[in-house]
Order: sequence, then structure tokens, then C-alpha cells
Amino acid sequence: VGDKSKAIIEKTDKYGANNYHPLPIVVSKAEGVWVEDPEGNKYMDMLSAYSAVNQGHRHPEIIQALKEQADRVTLTSRAFHNDQLGPWYELVCQLTKKEMALPMNTGAEAVETAVKAARRWAYDVKGVVENEAEIIACIGNFHGRTMTAVSLSSEDEYKRGFGPMLPGIKLIPYGDLEALKNAITSNTAAFLIEPIQGEAGIVIPPEGFLKKAYELCKENEVLFIADEIQAGLARSGKMFACEWEDVQPDMYILGKALGGGVFPISCVVADRDILGVFNPGSHGSTFGGNPMACAVSIASLNVLVKENLAERSLKLGEYFKSKLKEIENPIIKEVRGRGLFIGVELHEEARPYCEKLKDEGLLCKETHDTVIRFAPPLVISEEDLDWAIERITKVLS
Ligand code: PLP
Repeated sequence: VGDKSKAIIEKTDKYGANNYHPLPIVVSKAEGVWVEDPEGNKYMDMLSAYSAVNQGHRHPEIIQALKEQADRVTLTSRAFHNDQLGPWYELVCQLTKKEMALPMNTGAEAVETAVKAARRWAYDVKGVVENEAEIIACIGNFHGRTMTAVSLSSEDEYKRGFGPMLPGIKLIPYGDLEALKNAITSNTAAFLIEPIQGEAGIVIPPEGFLKKAYELCKENEVLFIADEIQAGLARSGKMFACEWEDVQPDMYILGKALGGGVFPISCVVADRDILGVFNPGSHGSTFGGNPMACAVSIASLNVLVKENLAERSLKLGEYFKSKLKEIENPIIKEVRGRGLFIGVELHEEARPYCEKLKDEGLLCKETHDTVIRFAPPLVISEEDLDWAIERITKVLS
């Protein structure tokens, strides 16, 4: 680590709450798939800010939208209308084939919104007795860090010292249809699921599970809510990861790449019979739906569609996965993934390998101790991908 980087890391460690354990690398510049430290060393970004930068760092069209909007108006609050929100609603609804959207800022806030919507829907529409609504979620889930999100979690460390937790939550093993069947009662409002579990280590449910779980929800008047914050928006090789099983969830939760890694924006999207439960005064956010976020999000979604990033992720992801599978080393337990959303599970700690990859010029982050996640920006060129594969093969061989 160079002197400039060292000084920055020292200051960060001195004054910052200690809730992260970053690799010792400072990023001071970025473009496309490449980031640069203050010393001028270049690295390839293989994490994409947990899939928030699917469109690549500082995509020119997104930056252009940001600049143009910054010169017009940045924030109105929802006390007034702004001219970007309507067009943004329309685009998000067209993309998801849903009737209504509700914008927030971060992923966790959108999860909060989804849980509030599901509970109110249970009381107002399904007829569940007040305060009895239940949400079913999956072991290994990651839905964020707010109290609702950590209440949903099965990780002790996410919850330790933060109790009491939110009641009305049931957990089932990920991909276990029988457990879902047994967990559903007349009080069940929703089944909340990541179609691919990201933070758990790129875990894909057994084939047919999403479809059958969706059908089970339909039979029992239970909302099927897909948290597509990380797996969605082209990351898995489809615009939405639920498309892998032709499932149209009742509600989408989106975030991360919704703002192209440029501006935070998240949302829930559903039909009117569900999201219509909100009325003025029931929910909101000072920044939710702000014109900067909406303008940036419109550009970000247009880039995903115009540049066929879902298809690109699928094609390059298959190639990348096949190359990773060619690496022969008994420490590799499994290579799995969809599109450019790939996990390499090891029989040992992944962190030292992430550090070695960093020395080779590749920024990766371990997840759940033994998994290296490879999730480059989807705009990555074949040439750059080959460059990465060469170095990964060297480190993992
Ligand atoms: N849901 C999923 C599936 C996520 O991967 C994440 C973030 O990693 C979140 C929710 C939380 O999003 P945020 O960190 O923006 O609150």
C-alpha cells in the first residue's frame, strides 16, 4: 500500500465506526470495469459494488443525465410534483409489467416498504386479523441492515445486541417447498425470497422451486415477493432472476443498479390491488422519488436495455463459468452461478485468495468466508474478461 493510500486508510479507521472490513485498497477514480488508487495503480472491479455498478463505473449516458439534472433541480420532496418522477414510474412499470411503483433510496428501505405493503394488504385485502400477519423468508437471506431486514435474517451476528426483533416472521430452508407448504397459514401475508441468494454465496434454488413456490403462494392467497436488489437488473443473465423460471412475482424489490451506481434509488413494484393499500400519510421518504435519482435511474435502465446487458451477462457468464470450471485444484468445492454472477466455493477461507487476486490487479470480495464472488460490471469486454480469467487461473491453480 502506498503512502497516500495508507494515510487515507488510517484516517478512515481512526474516525469511522468499525462496521466493515474492506480490503486495503483506496479507490480514487474509476471508469467502466477499471478503478484506480491514489498512486495510479489500476485494478479490475470484480464486485461492481455488490452489483450496483452493472452498467460500469461512470457510464457516460448516466453521468450526462446526472449533470443535466443537477443543472435543473435536485430535490423537491414529495410535497410537490417533479417532472422526472412520472416518466420514471412509467419506465419501471413497463419493464416489470406492473401497474404501480413506490420509490425509496436504499435496498433495505425498499424491503421495509415491501413488508409494510404486504402486512397492510393482509389486513385490508386478505382479511387477516389485525397484528397477526406473518411473513415467510428464507434461511441464509440478505435483505439489508434495518431492523426489519435483520429481523428477517438467520445470521446471529446480524442480530446480536439489536433486539427485540420484529415479530411475525417465519424462516424456511432456501428451496424447500415442503417447508414452505408447512409454514403457510391463513395469516401468511407474503413469501419473501431472493431468486438467487447473493450474500449467502450465489446460491441458486433447486430447479423448479421458484415456479412451484409461486403456485403454492397463489393457491393460498400469499404474495410472492422477489428481492431482486442484487440478482435483478441483468446481473443473472436475465433482466430479472425470476425469469429463469418464468415467474412473474406479485412484487419486485429493486435497488442497486436501478441507479447505475451513480445515485441511490430503490423501489417496490406491484399491481394496484397490492400497492394501492398505501394512501397519503401511510408511507414516505424525503428523498424517495427525487428528480436526481429518477433522472439517473431512467438513464440507468435505458442503458441496461439498449446495450442488451442481460444477454451480454448470460453469454459472457457462461464462458467465464466454463473457464473457472477448467481450473483443477482440490481446494475448489464448487463453481456456480448465472450470468456474470458467479461464486467459487472453496474448502477453505476465501479471504487470502481475494488478497492474492488484489496483488494480481483484480478486486474481489469473499462472501460467507469460503466463497469468492465474481461479478464484474456487465459492460466488460471479452478481452478484459480473458485478462481476468488468466489471473484468476494463476491464483487458484
Ligand atoms: N437485498 C439484497 C438481496 C441485497 O443484496 C442487499 C444489499 O446487498 C439489500 C437487500 C440491501 O440493500 P442496501 O444495502 O442498499 O440497503
